[in-house]
Amino acid sequence: MDFDDTPEEAAFRAEARAWLEEHAPVKGGPDDFSTGYLEGTMAPEEFNRRVKAWLGLLVDHGWAGITWPKRYGGRGCTPMQSQIWTQEASKWGVTVNPFPVGIAMAGPTLMRHGTDAQKERFLLPMLRGEEVWCQLFSEPDAGSDLANISTRAVRDGDEWVVSGQKVWTSGAHESQWGILLARTDPDVPKHKGITYFLLDMAAPGIDIRPLRQMTGSEHFNEVFLDEVRIPHDMVVGEVNGGWACALTTLSNERGLIAGGNKSSDSLALIELAQKRGRNEDPVLRQQLVDCWSRQQIQKYLGYRLQTALSKGVAPGPETSVMKLFAAEYLRRLGKASLEMLGPEGQLYADDAPAGTDWQARFLFAPAIGIAGGSNEVQRNIMAERVLGLPGEIRADRDVPFRELGRRGS
Ligand SMILES: Cc1cc2nc3c(=O)[nH]c(=O)nc-3n(C[C@H](O)[C@H](O)[C@H](O)COP(=O)(O)OP(=O)(O)OC[C@H]3O[C@@H](n4cnc5c(N)ncnc54)[C@H](O)[C@@H]3O)c2cc1C
Repeated sequence: MDFDDTPEEAAFRAEARAWLEEHAPVKGGPDDFSTGYLEGTMAPEEFNRRVKAWLGLLVDHGWAGITWPKRYGGRGCTPMQSQIWTQEASKWGVTVNPFPVGIAMAGPTLMRHGTDAQKERFLLPMLRGEEVWCQLFSEPDAGSDLANISTRAVRDGDEWVVSGQKVWTSGAHESQWGILLARTDPDVPKHKGITYFLLDMAAPGIDIRPLRQMTGSEHFNEVFLDEVRIPHDMVVGEVNGGWACALTTLSNERGLIAGGNKSSDSLALIELAQKRGRNEDPVLRQQLVDCWSRQQIQKYLGYRLQTALSKGVAPGPETSVMKLFAAEYLRRLGKASLEMLGPEGQLYADDAPAGTDWQARFLFAPAIGIAGGSNEVQRNIMAERVLGLPGEIRADRDVPFRELGRRGS
C-alpha cells in the first residue's frame, strides 16, 4: 500500500484544495449543506437548490465529473485523481448526494454502453443536475436476486411497451429520467433476456407512490408501469444484453456507497462527548474508540483501493469489503451517538436541543446495510472471490425464465 501522493498527484491535490478553499462553504458553517439529505436538517427544496447550484459551479469551473471526458463536461482525469478530489471535497460543507444515480451510476453506464446520440443528449444535463435520474431495478420479487425481474417490455414497431412494478425507487418522485431493467425474452435463462432502457418519467402510464421510511422522509417509492411506451432509441446496449449494462451500474453503485463515508463523523461525536462531559464514561469511551478505530480502518481500506487504482488495477472485491465495513461502522456510530444523547436522543423535531442530525443518522444507518447489495450478499461475494469458498448453488441459472413459473413468465 502506498500512502504518499506522487508529485503529479500532490500537484492535483493542491489545485483541488485551492479551488475548494475559494468556492466551497466551510463544514459546520452557516452555508454547509453536506448533511441536508438527512431528515430534519434542511427543507428538501432548499437542499436541491443548493446542490444544483453547486453542480453548476463545478461544471463551469471544470471540476465536475472528474473522470468524465472533457467533451461531456468532465475533467478527463484518472480514477486516482477522482479519489483525491472526493477526499478533498469531503472536508467541505458540500455534497452531490441526491444526484448520484445520474452522475455516478447512469453516466458511467451510458459512457460505456450508450450510443453517441444518447451520450450527447443526456450526459451534460446530468452533470449539471438539470435532469435528475432514478434507478428502476428492484421489484417485489427481485432485489438480491435482481435477474429475477418480471417487468415486461414487448416490442411494437419503433417502440417498446412496458408493464410491471418497481419498488424502493429512490427519488423517483423528483426525477426526470430513469434507468430501467425489463424482461424482453422470457424464453432464455433469466440473465439473458433482460434489456436496459432509459425511461422518461413523465411518460403516460407511470404511477409513483411514495413509501415512508422510519426516518420520517419519503425518500423512495413504488413505481407502477402500465403500458408505458419507450422509443427504441432509448435502449442502452443490446436488446437482451441488459445484464452487462446492469453490472456496470451496480459496480459503480457499490463503489459509490462504499466510498461515500469519508467525513470525520467519529471525531464530531467525540467532540460532542467532550462538550457534554460524557468523555469520562468508561463504556461510552470504549464505543467512541471503537467508532474512531473503524473509521481509521475504513480510511486505510480506501487507501488500498486508491493504490490499486493508481497502478491501473480495476477494483475487485475491495468494494464489497468497504461497503460491508461502512455499513457496520455507521450502525455502531448511530448507536453510540444515541446512547450519548440519552433521553434527548428520542426527540426528533425542532425542540431537540442539539438538532436531529445524530437521530437521523441512527435511523438511516440500517439502510446502508441493504441498499446496493445487502451485507449478506457482500459476505457471499467475499466468501467466493476472496476466501475461495464454494459458490452458492444456482439451480435456475440455465433454465429459461418462463419455466421458472415466476411472475411475468
Ligand atoms: C435506502 C435504499 C435505497 C434503495 N434505492 C433503490 C433504488 O433507487 N433503485 C432500486 O432499484 N433499488 C433500490 N433499493 C433496493 C435495494 O437494491 C434492495 O433492497 C436490495 O438489493 C435487497 O433486496 P430486497 O430488499 O428485495 O431484499 P431480499 O433480496 O429479498 O433479501 C431479504 C433478506 O435475505 C437476504 N438474502 C437474500 N439473498 C441472499 C443470499 N443469496 N444469501 C444470503 N442472504 C440472502 C438479504 O441479505 C436480506 O437480509 C434501495 C434500498 C434501500 C435500503
